[in-house]
Amino acid sequence: MLYIVGIGPGGEDYLTLRAKEVLSSVDVVLGHKRYIELIRDFLRKNNPKAEIIESRMGKEVERAKLAIELSKSKNVALVSGGDPNIYGIGNLVLEILAKHNINIDFEVVPGISAFNIAGALLGSPFLDVAIINLSDLLVPWEEIERRLINALKADFVLALYNPSSRRRKEKFKQVLDIIKKYRPKALVGIVSNASREGEERFICRIDELSEDKVGMSTILIVGNSKTFKWHKYMITPRGYSRKYEL
Ligand code: SAH
Repeated sequence: MLYIVGIGPGGEDYLTLRAKEVLSSVDVVLGHKRYIELIRDFLRKNNPKAEIIESRMGKEVERAKLAIELSKSKNVALVSGGDPNIYGIGNLVLEILAKHNINIDFEVVPGISAFNIAGALLGSPFLDVAIINLSDLLVPWEEIERRLINALKADFVLALYNPSSRRRKEKFKQVLDIIKKYRPKALVGIVSNASREGEERFICRIDELSEDKVGMSTILIVGNSKTFKWHKYMITPRGYSRKYEL
């Protein structure tokens, strides 16, 4: 059996009961070094006999294929940070299964994604949300840009994953310019290392956003035209005040 397990943003508090159940019972746990690190203590206490296989970034296809192979004779948990279906390894595993028509038993165990925890830390910023990954490693830049512009035009709240990296500093400046053009007064919530060591969150206007606050472990939440700030919180009204006295 293959379990594709989301382990949440970091802290064990945000590991779901189902994920804990699965991680406590499998024979093999496989994942990127970074994610294994986040659950190492949990495994030591709850499943010390499990074989742990760590792999590196950029080796996702090999990792997914190995997990599929091993799961033919063992119970395997392939772990992903956050939710496995949000820029995690879930889509890749299912694509491989479908491509080769491999009929193994599998279960996707959802996890708390970065946007869930960021939303909670920022207050209540969501209404209709467009989740966009700004990394052009797997998707052409033109496609990312088109989606970003259309989501801004449609007044979606945005959750922007992978906003910047050393290689993409210039692209991130372009992203800021696009947001400023279509939503010049946008409120932005910046959350880094949510539920991990070094957690940081702050809120500013798009024209005040300093690029050095944004890195590989940051998610940006861009409010829609109605999002407002109250003390240190970002709030997007849902529409109750149109119908009810609040
Ligand atoms: N599957 C993961 C996302 C993997 S892509 C999920 O569902 O959350 C990696 C990106 O996710 C990072 O570049 C960052 O934008 C975001 N991210 C992941 N964990 C985060 C955390 N703890 N705090 C802030 N952003 C995070």
